[in-house]
Amino acid sequence: MEIKAKIPDPKSAFYQEEIETMPVEKLKALQLERLRKQVKNIYDNNPYFQKVYQDAGFKPEDLKSLDDISKIPFMEKSTVREGYPTKIVTGPVGDMREMHSTSGTTGKPVLIFASEHDIDLWADRNARELWMVGVRPGDIFLNSFGYGLPTGGFGFHYGAQRMGACPIPLSGGQSDRMVDILVDLPVKAFCATPSFALYVGQKAQEKGFDLAKDSTCSISLHGAEPWAWSTRMRIQELFGTMAFDEFGMTEFLGPGMTCECQARTDSTPQRMHAWADHLLAECINPDTGMPVADGEDGEMVWTNLVNTGTPLIRYRSRDLASLTWKPCPCGRTHPRMSPIKGRSDDAVSISGLIVFPSQVEEALARFPEMGANFRIIVETDPRGMDFFTLKVELKDRGYLSDENLVQGLKQKMKEAVKSVTDVNPKVVELIGPDELPRVTKGEGKTASARVEDRRKKE
Ligand code: ZN
Repeated sequence: MEIKAKIPDPKSAFYQEEIETMPVEKLKALQLERLRKQVKNIYDNNPYFQKVYQDAGFKPEDLKSLDDISKIPFMEKSTVREGYPTKIVTGPVGDMREMHSTSGTTGKPVLIFASEHDIDLWADRNARELWMVGVRPGDIFLNSFGYGLPTGGFGFHYGAQRMGACPIPLSGGQSDRMVDILVDLPVKAFCATPSFALYVGQKAQEKGFDLAKDSTCSISLHGAEPWAWSTRMRIQELFGTMAFDEFGMTEFLGPGMTCECQARTDSTPQRMHAWADHLLAECINPDTGMPVADGEDGEMVWTNLVNTGTPLIRYRSRDLASLTWKPCPCGRTHPRMSPIKGRSDDAVSISGLIVFPSQVEEALARFPEMGANFRIIVETDPRGMDFFTLKVELKDRGYLSDENLVQGLKQKMKEAVKSVTDVNPKVVELIGPDELPRVTKGEGKTASARVEDRRKKE
């Protein structure tokens, strides 16, 4: 196993240069070696997963190449929940040093135990991320992620200590203290959810401070919720920082999974490096379970290659994003992931392309004639090709008698939907107001409410 890295020269662009810039072939060979070892260990030592694997007809010896990962059954949220409380823990309980937990708002929580070894590697990943965005030994790092059952605050705390910086464990929700600390102490970097950062920025202004001038902070990290590029610009303006996106899930010890490097730009779809020596990221078509092409949207599936406490293998996140192994200008070879675009439960796959009802809604909302509702109807033609029809309610039934308007709208709506989804609706059908079944506000953006799937499923 890895030896704790020595703190590098502050001028180095990398915290663990050899690993971060490892040639892709070597990195993938390392992934295969670790995957085989990890799966064998789980199979041999965890009766719960041994049964799951045996029921699926899978044996660790089946793993001869990285492509063979498709032979391992997925871990669904339900499988993991059924393992509550400790059936999915693979290491001896006496080796564990920390436990974290998902919120469990939609069922039993997932309890994640971490051994000393796991915490050690977790610290390394977070140290890499802080170093990558510009934090250096001796810097003060203000941490406003929560210190509690979710992993939020802990990852960067350990990471900052590991690389020789000084974390301040402010934890969440303390905007006044945060303004005071940013003004009074020579803080170099902070992390916060984007919405909390905006709130703190406003608070500071109300107190008469301009944090862009009155604080020494030049770096900020944000995650745990989706945020637009315009929000990033606003945060950068409020705090005078370079703002970076990071993403993590408590099931994989949260922060330290993926983070943007300094080469991130608005026009790069995939911006966050995912640490491939510790985590194997797959991007699959949620309907078929097969991998999508490099850079295409799909569901993220994660495998923990190194942890000994609660390593999840092929865990279906239901998060939709894209992943690329294309080289990054920063020199890191680890693949990059896009921000999360939505939930796979809320999307539909049409001819292998992922379509979100929310994208279609956005495209249609630009037409002032559009009413309250629309419906995507997916079918298969006799050659087996998927196609979809769009039914769109208009605000006023009277529009339907204007033939020119109707023809023009159908054409423009087709083009607008194609431009956001890459799929051309075969037919756009315009109908009067309230002809479609109502959807409640909460389900308005979900596929179940917006999509009628008439394809035959085997
Ligand atoms: Zn990079």
